[in-house]
Amino acid sequence: MSELTIGILGGGQLGSLLCLGAKKLNINTVIYCDDKDAPAQNYANAFIFGDYKDEIKIKDFINKVDIVTYEFENIPFETLDLINQFKEVKPKPAINKIVQHRLYEKDFINKCNIGTARYVSIKEKSDLNSNIKLIPGILKTCRLGYDGKGQYKLNNPSDIENLNIDFSQEYILEKMINLKKEFSIILTRFSHSVHSVYEPIENEHENQILKYSKIPADIDNKIVSKAKDWASIIADDLDYVGTICVEYFMDRNDNLYVNEIAPRVHNSGHLTINSYNISQFENHIRAICGLGKQELKKLHDAKMINIIGEEIVSYRSKKYSDNEFFFDYGKKEIKANRKMGHLTVIQR
Ligand code: ADP
Ligand code: MG
Repeated sequence: MSELTIGILGGGQLGSLLCLGAKKLNINTVIYCDDKDAPAQNYANAFIFGDYKDEIKIKDFINKVDIVTYEFENIPFETLDLINQFKEVKPKPAINKIVQHRLYEKDFINKCNIGTARYVSIKEKSDLNSNIKLIPGILKTCRLGYDGKGQYKLNNPSDIENLNIDFSQEYILEKMINLKKEFSIILTRFSHSVHSVYEPIENEHENQILKYSKIPADIDNKIVSKAKDWASIIADDLDYVGTICVEYFMDRNDNLYVNEIAPRVHNSGHLTINSYNISQFENHIRAICGLGKQELKKLHDAKMINIIGEEIVSYRSKKYSDNEFFFDYGKKEIKANRKMGHLTVIQR
């Protein structure tokens, strides 16, 4: 048994899969989550249920672990900063501060000379009226959005009035891109220029939620190398340690844009569990624990299907062949638009 214990903030499916990655390396895990039914408690050595702002419980967590990471970027910055004074948080909290705010995130990407959709900060209704050149566009809350939550599609200027937008929040308005493809690059950074980069993963969304991912992605080599370079620049510039995901858009003219950065393991990388010698989860644990880079080897082409809401019921009773890997997140409640599980199919 190893002496090392990792603390993970957040207890959903990404937390569960991080625990499994750690287990493979004989490393212990403690999950901290504000949901008492958090699925990851079934995979961790210990579980603490508490609010992310509960200092007493956070201190108890700090005492139980050697190093801390997180499964989603919306943990309050103050919490990460507090923890970091006692036990190292990786990736470091300063990164989280940038990436959990869509405006700071897009400004950062552009500062690296990397393209994004055109965007503008929206603080009040009049900001929208003076930026109708970005309509058709998508209005996104700066904070706490995921799976398309907190987004309004503005197809024409009259939608500014029609959509009943809640202006108590800050937004960015992004010009709508005529998408040909979406894909992601997942990279694990160990130290400067020491990266393991997975091949691009082609993603298809339904209702702004990831539905299908596959490798190989059907993308021109030139674009692949540009996207890999951009992901490396972003990771080095942030002085990132661990697994990071960069989501890309390609438009009808093959222009490349970064959509967003996830400072964590990513849903599109679930297929790395069965298609690579080292998954994105194991690699994250390796990097944050200073275990050093091992060469990635691809074992299989693969595709992954996200199982959303009620779909889970029929998947639970299906029979699977030996190239199919079904993972049920074990969430107590089935909700519409909620990710309930996934199925990876590898090609032998
Ligand atoms: P989330 O944080 O919810 O994942 P995203 O910004 O990634 O939010 O948006 C979710 C999905 O919505 C994207 O994967 C894409 O399919 C679509 N989308 C978002 N922004 C744009 C845009 N500017 N142009 C076209 N499609 C977009
Ligand atoms: Mg996204």
